[in-house]
Amino acid sequence: MDNPLLLSAPRIILSYEPIITTDKILVVDGIVKAYGAKAEDKATSLGAEKIVFDKVLAPGFIDTHMHIDTLAMMLRMIDLSDIKSLKELADKIMDADNRIGEWIVGRGFDHNLFIDDKVLDRRKLDSIIPDKPLLLIHKSGHMGFLNTAGLEALEQLSVVLPRDQVDPDTGIVVEDALWRIYSWIKQQVRPDEFADMIAEAQNHILQHGVTGVAVAGCDDQCMESLLRAEKTGRLKLRVYVYIYPENDEWIEKYLYWRNVARGCVRVLGIKLLADGALGTRTAYLSMPYDDDPDNRGKLLLSANDITEYLEEAVKIDAQVAVHAIGDAALDEVLKAYYNYKEYNHLLRIEHASLVRDDQLEIIERIKPLISVQPRFIASDKWILERIGGRVKWAYRFRSLMNRTTISFSTDCPVEPIDPREGIYYAVTRDPGSPYDKYSPNEKITLSEALHLYTRTASILLRDNRLGALTPGSYADIIGFDKDPLSISINGIRNLVISTISINGELINDKEQ
Ligand SMILES: [Zn+2]
Repeated sequence: MDNPLLLSAPRIILSYEPIITTDKILVVDGIVKAYGAKAEDKATSLGAEKIVFDKVLAPGFIDTHMHIDTLAMMLRMIDLSDIKSLKELADKIMDADNRIGEWIVGRGFDHNLFIDDKVLDRRKLDSIIPDKPLLLIHKSGHMGFLNTAGLEALEQLSVVLPRDQVDPDTGIVVEDALWRIYSWIKQQVRPDEFADMIAEAQNHILQHGVTGVAVAGCDDQCMESLLRAEKTGRLKLRVYVYIYPENDEWIEKYLYWRNVARGCVRVLGIKLLADGALGTRTAYLSMPYDDDPDNRGKLLLSANDITEYLEEAVKIDAQVAVHAIGDAALDEVLKAYYNYKEYNHLLRIEHASLVRDDQLEIIERIKPLISVQPRFIASDKWILERIGGRVKWAYRFRSLMNRTTISFSTDCPVEPIDPREGIYYAVTRDPGSPYDKYSPNEKITLSEALHLYTRTASILLRDNRLGALTPGSYADIIGFDKDPLSISINGIRNLVISTISINGELINDKEQ
């Protein structure tokens, strides 16, 4: 048995719905055993170590849909988003010691706004970095720039790229070619280095008070590096994994990973995509886009395709998590799920960004588990031009939570991992925005938002000890400088958050 701990603080929030608070909890073997006077009595008889905090303690946040491997890549890239000139760009790249394998990768700049020189090409990049492969990804994500060493590295390893998307003279690559280069660079990273990167990503996540995540799509490299980080004691974060089924033999692969997963890593199901995204007009809609009248987006999986996966998944008790952003993609998912509604604990929907009224009724009957991303409200500023009055179907948190179990997430690194952001947008719907104007009734309260960022994850992730500090829960504890239940919604964005412990094990500052 671990050393029992008696933690005391001015206020300890055990649960947000209902609100239960105390000033002492007893932790034994990583689990909260008792609170209040009872905790104190038991602590004395067990000879527990006493630790006093001056913060408000609360259950850690759980992000039920993010991409830890992509975040790990992103954190190793040079952030060029505040760069205003070619000179600054050159200085920042030369000063940085970030590497991904052999490569130096930068992202987030817009050279069209540079004040000194708006033309970027291979020769200029050579004068910055002559001897190592360099890739710079434009802010739009649709264009990238390679230096000569970068072009040569790709040639040597015979990476096949669409010819019309690469200009060997300027080093400019676009669209698909750019993303093939990116994934190739990622796949080249050795397992040990990737495990280090995963540990760095974990530290970034813990800094924001997130103590558990679901990885919504994991390939072999992602699984291997997670398990390597776990085995070498570098991983503390709770990680729930959804595997990408890469081919027809996915069941065998899935069962293998589920079997070998250890410690804080748990494999729960598979991740599928039924459509694309609103930003790229690839989300599948029942009516065309307002700003692209011949286009309804693209369906990637039909109800029949999803059913084929479901048939197998229920036999092995695996969850199916389907990405559906457009309302017509959601139709397909619901059609498939309807016949499996007695397995609703295995049925996940990712995003459900657009939900019609008739679909709400079906959702109420099936009760699938839905992971939504409230911070999309801040990013999808173009929503009104893109889908017009259908904006009233977007991000219906109140309607969904009244009918089934939903939980919050970020899709990080699509959105920042910071839970304060999602909470702010779920509660306010961005004052003055179309979301605020067209569907103010979808706003939720602050305590509801905190609940959807903690406790409901226990249902999505099938782990009853998760998301609370009531007796029987994991001692996954975070600290706030102020009580989140007694500040204004604007104050939420300035809360200072830190991770205190996972499984009762104190997290040191270095890990944060
Ligand atoms: Zn995602």
